Amino acid sequence: MFESLSERLERSFKILKGEGKISEINVAETLKDVRKALLDADVNFKIAKTFTDTVKEKAIGQNVLTSLKPNQLMVKIVHDELAQLMGGASVDINLKGSPTVILMSGLQGSGKTTFSGKLANLLKTKRSKNPLLVACDVYRPAAIEQLKVLGEQLGVPVYSDLESKNPVSIAEAAIKHAKLHGNDVVIVDTAGRLAVDEAMMNEIAAIKKAINPQEILFVVDSMTGQDAVNTAKEFNDRLDFDGVILTKLDGDTRGGAALSIRSVVNKPIKFVGTGEKMDALDVFYPERMADRILGMGDIVSLVERAQEQYDEEDARRLQKRIAKNQFDFNDFISQIQQIKKMGNIKDLAAMIPGMGKALKDVDIDDNAFKGIEAIIHSMTPLERANPAMLNGSRKQRIAAGSGTTIVDVNRLLKQFDQTSKMMKMATMSQGKLKLGKRR
Ligand code: GDP
Repeated sequence: MFESLSERLERSFKILKGEGKISEINVAETLKDVRKALLDADVNFKIAKTFTDTVKEKAIGQNVLTSLKPNQLMVKIVHDELAQLMGGASVDINLKGSPTVILMSGLQGSGKTTFSGKLANLLKTKRSKNPLLVACDVYRPAAIEQLKVLGEQLGVPVYSDLESKNPVSIAEAAIKHAKLHGNDVVIVDTAGRLAVDEAMMNEIAAIKKAINPQEILFVVDSMTGQDAVNTAKEFNDRLDFDGVILTKLDGDTRGGAALSIRSVVNKPIKFVGTGEKMDALDVFYPERMADRILGMGDIVSLVERAQEQYDEEDARRLQKRIAKNQFDFNDFISQIQQIKKMGNIKDLAAMIPGMGKALKDVDIDDNAFKGIEAIIHSMTPLERANPAMLNGSRKQRIAAGSGTTIVDVNRLLKQFDQTSKMMKMATMSQGKLKLGKRR
């Protein structure tokens, strides 16, 4: 995501080398480059100009106050301005009302239905809500079916009425249904068209009027660049929506939509979609996005993802096993499974500062652990629990069973050995720290 913008910005900061001060002259060239990078990322011309003008003003104004080198100072100012451009602070969805009614809007194919499912999933699993999904696309039976499939997969009920051709009455009936069945959030998925048209706008405006939603979300495909921004403007003029959902940020979007939408419609981006799976949804944090754009990584999100997968009970059990030298291949594989649950490996690695660029051309895929898992699965339960018993002939059998070679098996055994030692050391030093505190 944003790879080329990140690279271009980094290159433009390099012009500002040395210890000298920032001056009108040396800053001008950098900012020309920054502006070009923004334009190439499909940021609207006016926004790019205002952006660089502000950065220039701040850079020259701050000159005397800082001990940073000019390019460091520039990175900081650009970072802060990018975050500002994307809205500054993150804004949550409004869950007031009983039930809370959330109306989805956007063009066909933008990812409305997928996002409706993701949001229902998030509200159910992280906010202890009992959501109801509502299928209001009366033109495409396939869209209703898609929502039903998602609902089933997530264990979230879906309200639909294949007989009715009136989305307003379906939405109204769904809210009544929710009240009767104890659903505290109603997520209304609506029909989109391929392009903005009057009939679609009239329809969604009529639904809005009838159900008076707490939250109207506009869903847009970030890959569509400036078009995304123009569509946002048209929907906002008509619906006065509350927030934007940017989807497909996992693709190679150039970033223009993420950077421009906020200042064009003056509405916050609330979530970003980062994949087709139901958990590929992130709360949008302008600061963190600015970090990522500037190749500073996003350690906070990385740690958060790790924490989500962290099971305290499990960790304690593992710690005990390590301390007793009982760490075995069953533990090893369950650790791998936890890492895999955190998401796509390349995405995760890109959150580490400096890694995004380094990994640009490296091909890491989700199968990175496949060989390891195959080897472990070819061990007998006894072998998994007692790695020390793996002699030559056993290794040979495991290699044959997993479609690998004895070299691969030995490599894994070595990795396992090193991991066990490292874990043992980490556990021991943690133990000492605890003892130290007690004293
Ligand atoms: P709708 O017509 O607005 O309801 O759009 P859909 O929800 O049907 O999405 C259109 C296509 O985009 C589907 O193939 C989705 O799987 C895909 N999609 C939706 N969100 C994302 C996302 O965040 N990342 C990726 N890669 N694909 C997405």
